[in-house]
Amino acid sequence: MKGLRTIRIVLSLVFLVTSVAFLVFGHYAGPLARLSEKLQIIPSILATTMGVTIVWIVISIFLGRIYCSTVCPIGTLQDIVLKFRRKIPYFNRPFSYQPRRQVRYHILLIYLVCLGVGVVAVPYWIEPWNIMRNISSVFNPDAVETTWITLGIGAAAGMAAGIVSAILLVICALFTGRGFCTVVCPIGTALGALDGITLYHIEIDPDKCINCMKCEEVCKSQCVKVAGRVVDNSRCVRCFDCLNVCPNDAIRFQSGRNRRATPLFRKQVTR
Ligand code: SF4
Ligand code: SF4
Ligand code: SF4
Repeated sequence: MKGLRTIRIVLSLVFLVTSVAFLVFGHYAGPLARLSEKLQIIPSILATTMGVTIVWIVISIFLGRIYCSTVCPIGTLQDIVLKFRRKIPYFNRPFSYQPRRQVRYHILLIYLVCLGVGVVAVPYWIEPWNIMRNISSVFNPDAVETTWITLGIGAAAGMAAGIVSAILLVICALFTGRGFCTVVCPIGTALGALDGITLYHIEIDPDKCINCMKCEEVCKSQCVKVAGRVVDNSRCVRCFDCLNVCPNDAIRFQSGRNRRATPLFRKQVTR
């Protein structure tokens, strides 16, 4: 099961490189780059069929937020920042469980309203594919040709947004891990909302767990609470880092849920 992490890291790097290649070089970047763009949720939402979005919804119902650990380039960019975070003594601190923030649903609602009434500046700032597009426009201003120019303020605004977004993402990752993914990103919130019907979950086996805390301390989504043996799978981005550090194979990616330590405590820690 630990091999899952290696597979997802390889996939995420491939999709990051090919996504940037598509945005910088366009259709000249080759078939893999075009495929990478085709697998993104945001471009698919804007297409009339929404075929890829439907496929990701089905995958998420089976496996959870796999999109967030493989195909989304913004997720991988944050993971790269987190890799460097460990080398900086000031930031190299273990993560700990944080309660759910309801504000993520408010942000999703604002995002949907803005989409509905045509206020595209908001989606341009918080949609992962558009953030990646803005960042890529630093290397190729044409990457934002079809977006910011529609607002009548030109590609320079997109490039400026890309630089600001990149700085904010780095700061957010350094202080909160995948905080952008668990609170701000509307795609992540929407996929996480499927958690109630998802088949496969990250679960802690209460009979095997030895309370070493390693899984909670490594979880960049800050969604593991060893006390109570709870994993908030709506925020889990399926990075599989927790599986990798567990010394007793007590935390697993599995179908079905395990029993909790005590039902009352479960309620308390998942809020
Ligand atoms: S939550 Fe959003 S930005 Fe984060 S990995 Fe998922 S889709 Fe990408
Ligand atoms: S629970 Fe595990 S797989 Fe999910 S985000 Fe945390 S470390 Fe990654
Ligand atoms: S890493 Fe494994 S043994 Fe340690 S607290 Fe987590 S589930 Fe329990």
